[in-house]
Amino acid sequence: MRLFRNAKFWYKGSFDNQIKAILCDQGKIVELYDAIPEAQPNIEQIDLKGNFVYPGFIDTHTHSFEGGLYSLMIDLSSATNLQDVFDLIANGVEGKGKFIFAWNFDETKIKETRFPTRAEINSIVKDKNLVIRRVDGHSCMVNSYAYYNICQTIPNFHSNDEVFRGLENDIAVHWFHNNLDEELILRSYHAASDIALQGGFSTIHTMVGDANMSIGHYSVIKERLDEFDVDFILYPQSFNIDQALAVGAKRIGGCILADGSIGSYTAAMYEPYYSKPIRGTLYQTDAFWREFITRAHQNNLQVAVHCIGDRAIDQINKVYMALANSDYKDLRHQLIHCEVTDDALVNQIKASAAVPVMQPMFDYLWGGDSGFYSKTLGLERSRIMNRFATFMSRGIRVTGSSDWYVTSLDIRNSLNAVINHHNPSERLSPAQAIEIYTENAAWLSHDENCRGKIAIGYDADFSILNYDPAHEVDDPKIVAIIKNQKIVYINDKA
Ligand SMILES: [Zn+2]
Ligand SMILES: [Zn+2]
Repeated sequence: MRLFRNAKFWYKGSFDNQIKAILCDQGKIVELYDAIPEAQPNIEQIDLKGNFVYPGFIDTHTHSFEGGLYSLMIDLSSATNLQDVFDLIANGVEGKGKFIFAWNFDETKIKETRFPTRAEINSIVKDKNLVIRRVDGHSCMVNSYAYYNICQTIPNFHSNDEVFRGLENDIAVHWFHNNLDEELILRSYHAASDIALQGGFSTIHTMVGDANMSIGHYSVIKERLDEFDVDFILYPQSFNIDQALAVGAKRIGGCILADGSIGSYTAAMYEPYYSKPIRGTLYQTDAFWREFITRAHQNNLQVAVHCIGDRAIDQINKVYMALANSDYKDLRHQLIHCEVTDDALVNQIKASAAVPVMQPMFDYLWGGDSGFYSKTLGLERSRIMNRFATFMSRGIRVTGSSDWYVTSLDIRNSLNAVINHHNPSERLSPAQAIEIYTENAAWLSHDENCRGKIAIGYDADFSILNYDPAHEVDDPKIVAIIKNQKIVYINDKA
């Protein structure tokens, strides 16, 4: 048995309480004390040095394989011009194998405001496959070496544009992923587990598969879940319901796409973009979604679909609504991202009981009156985006996530972003911010009776930070992660 003491414990939505110590046994919380009990030989006491103990934080939407893999690859986020991009790639290629991923490319953040040309990147990497992925994952480009190889294995693959968007983007990226060996796949997940712990999480939901008909290495990871310190909740990210059922999945989907992204002008909007006279793209028909979601629902699978623009959110939510009315089941179907929602659409989401699985960091990076969303969609529409507070005030359970690798897997950034939302009327209180990463997140996977709270009978999963988000500190740190009462991560700099 283990007794955790000398800390402030998050209990019933506050640190303002009398809890002085927590006793854990066999991975569960068995007692809460308002005075530290006397030492006993069979109880190991752990001194938490006055830090803040939260229920283990849960990120409800990540792409851990890509995140882990890319952490081993080339990060372009520091580039301010194309020369930086070329230098980062040239300096990073060594020792990375035959498939090189350069990610976090954002043409809006570099001086030339454009992608490189294929000729430019050919001069840097000639004899290995190189892909440069845009920061949102919805466009990419490859060098000639990779383009030739992709065309060899995918006969009808063709693109008029050197920058791939939509389907071409997906095909090219999955061609890269599918060519990696199992050793690198496992190394990627181990890297992801380490990054999740360092980022403050004890559990992360993770998407596995090519967002088309393949569930990829789902079984490989499912059989090895015990190897990882973080708890991965797996989603077969696929349209293949039979395969998902065959491997025993309880859910299906993830970033299976109803639309694309705002940065790639493929998010499906009811009104045209402000900066271009187009409305984005619905990737599938209404009938397609009706059939897919209904069949998954009939088989008791929780469904998750990527939808960013109001037209795409409405398309998916209408199917959820029809099922809620005709064949209600407590499956907690998900609207991943759910970014653009006017009041009428918020009401529709309330009525369908769908769950917005949202990313505070999207607002942090691209929100605000002078931010990218405002420039692309117009000021008015940018103010009805990422409506955390509106959803919560309507009693709609929002869950928090990073969409990592798209944004950082770090609870400090996520809490900070949602507490300081660009739009003051969409800010969450610190307690609500914690709620979307604990109680609500546990509820999403039907784990509300064992996770997301510090309470007797709950899992002994704790995230230990050196601060309370209600009070700013100069140096916010993640101190340690405890999983099933075991200390799985200690920050030696804290
Ligand atoms: Zn995603
Ligand atoms: Zn997505």
